[in-house]
Amino acid sequence: MSTPTPESYERGKGMDAHNSVMRDIRARKEKHYDPHEPTRVWLDEDNTPDGVYQSLTIILNTGGCRWARAGGCTMCGYVAESVEGGSVPHDALMDQIDVCLEHEREGADEKSGLIKIYTSGSFLDEREVGAETRKAIAETFSDRDRIVVESLPDFVTPEKLRDFREEGLETDVAIGLETANDRVRHDCVNKYFDFDDFIQASENAASVGAGIKAYLLMKPPFLSEPEAVQDMKESIRKCAEYAHTVSMNPTNVQRYT
Ligand code: SF4
Repeated sequence: MSTPTPESYERGKGMDAHNSVMRDIRARKEKHYDPHEPTRVWLDEDNTPDGVYQSLTIILNTGGCRWARAGGCTMCGYVAESVEGGSVPHDALMDQIDVCLEHEREGADEKSGLIKIYTSGSFLDEREVGAETRKAIAETFSDRDRIVVESLPDFVTPEKLRDFREEGLETDVAIGLETANDRVRHDCVNKYFDFDDFIQASENAASVGAGIKAYLLMKPPFLSEPEAVQDMKESIRKCAEYAHTVSMNPTNVQRYT
């Protein structure tokens, strides 16, 4: 990558300008979502540290990612799939879980051992999913073996993860690290946190016996192909110490980005 000039960090250029443009683009969203229906739900199979499991993947419909509302990551259009107004109440979120359980009953002979919950934001952000709902969801799935919840690192605390561990669930936090390189994460992806925050989140998870699944971005915007391959290799090596699983995700062009 080239070295930026100091001017590219002036206010009104660089990330301030990016965030301002992204807010305008995201405001063009026209589709509206029912807060009693999940964004998506599907049955699949997944590899875990304990072997392959039938999985139920749930994209909960919440108020969406706080960071996306401020501008957000360059490649991410998930906030366009969220309910307007910033929050979804407990009862509506539990209705969404009921819809997902019904989907599982209709599509599979047995209950899935693995539950994966995403929110087009952070499941552990209490502005998206409050403590009451988090505990109720942990209880609902207490008869399963393992749960994965996705979150930005800032929201990963031992207290929140204990809700799942106390129900006897093997627990993983999926973190969209994207790359282990802070410069690429900040300047190409426009993601605000540092690798040190990821390490801190992994330590918080480990303190209650939970694990980390790192999501890496295959070819962050603005990197050439060789740079992207190199970035992926270095990132896998660097995060292997803190994450038991790495998920490599090809960049795609999403709506409202
Ligand atoms: S990638 Fe994650 S943190 Fe970034 S805008 Fe999308 S949901 Fe938010």
